[in-house]
Amino acid sequence: GVRVAVWTDRSVRSATQTWVGTTHTWANATHTWVNAPHTWVRSGQRSQTGDMTSPMVDSSVYLERLARVRDAMATNDVDALLLSVGHDLPYLTGYTAMPLERLTMLVVPRDGVATMLIPALEAPRVRDVSGVFDLLPWGETQDPTAIVARLAGGARRIAVGDQMWARFLVELLPELPGVEYTRAVDVVGPLRMSKDQAEIDALAAAGAAVDRIAGELQRGEIPLVGRTEAEVSAHLGRRIIEEGHDKVNFAIVAAGENAASPHHHAGSRVIGEDEIVLCDFGGTMNGYCSDTTRCVFTGDPTAEVAEAYAVLHEAQRVGVAAGVVGTPCEEIDRATRRVIDDAGFGDFFIHRTGHGIGMEEHEDPYIVEGNSLPLEAGHAYSVEPGIYIPGKWGMRLEDIVVATADGPVALNNSDHSLVGVG
Ligand code: ZN
Ligand code: ZN
Ligand code: ZN
Repeated sequence: GVRVAVWTDRSVRSATQTWVGTTHTWANATHTWVNAPHTWVRSGQRSQTGDMTSPMVDSSVYLERLARVRDAMATNDVDALLLSVGHDLPYLTGYTAMPLERLTMLVVPRDGVATMLIPALEAPRVRDVSGVFDLLPWGETQDPTAIVARLAGGARRIAVGDQMWARFLVELLPELPGVEYTRAVDVVGPLRMSKDQAEIDALAAAGAAVDRIAGELQRGEIPLVGRTEAEVSAHLGRRIIEEGHDKVNFAIVAAGENAASPHHHAGSRVIGEDEIVLCDFGGTMNGYCSDTTRCVFTGDPTAEVAEAYAVLHEAQRVGVAAGVVGTPCEEIDRATRRVIDDAGFGDFFIHRTGHGIGMEEHEDPYIVEGNSLPLEAGHAYSVEPGIYIPGKWGMRLEDIVVATADGPVALNNSDHSLVGVG
């Protein structure tokens, strides 16, 4: 068989990573992760594989972001930035690369004109954002890697996007011998973390849309008992699109004991009476993500579940309130964890408190022990503590929060209690 090594959000993901345990204890070995291929797309509006993102942004915004990126390149001693598949590219240009075998690559020299190399047949997809970059289409018989090497020629230190396919980097290595590579997240990440007002507005609109769906769940307007998790998941997915998202990123529905697996893949289990149903769902609207979790109970919650939920509810409230500018991210994690620890459920809160959110459903800053980054106004992140009792039940409560000079503002405002539904 295959041995599964389990690491926790609290262990450091680096060369010094501590692996915790060696056996896989969760029931669903064919776990579908959050970034699974998107299966629901708003029909007729956008392609599944990518498109221009946020219509709200004009070229002056991109020029300003590019100027700040160049400053960050100087600070980080980076001579050239290479961006392909992933969200850094649309953040800087408004264009999302198609994740296919033909190379799309933005080459940003620290000084000099940025060039977007693009397969000729995809060039018509690119909106003209004049002055931001030169568009360089390559033909089917050309070698795009050699063109990238020429554009980045002379660079000693190159930053590459996290999601650039390994094959393109592997092909680039022999073309640019002696170059030192680093992650673009060090250059673009801090910019993307600090959301401007238009970005916060986009996150708030997406949040309000999923709140309306959460309300339907809590009013019993989305039938649960007698349906499978997968059917309810599909229902949530449809509603996410109907409420204005361009695509569904995930719609986790986990009933009863399945809710003890935080990223459970909704399956054929039929939802019964008198059990907890955890729903964690979100999508992308105008380039920005929503993500909320609410639990409902099909009947009157049992005393055991109600007691644990009261702890979870308080932990989540304390976590949101801790989001004061200047507070290290890990302090928010500690604040939620303390409440859960004190109530004796500490061993059953098996993940970090939250993640940043923006163009990506999970991005910096991570709300986790070890992240001492102080919160700044404009940081957007989730606060989503959970309690998971293997074989019995699980629960999580999640809001997206934006740090502001006036204190934390939650972008999700549906009922936080464990609502009983018929
Ligand atoms: Zn998650
Ligand atoms: Zn979530
Ligand atoms: Zn989340």
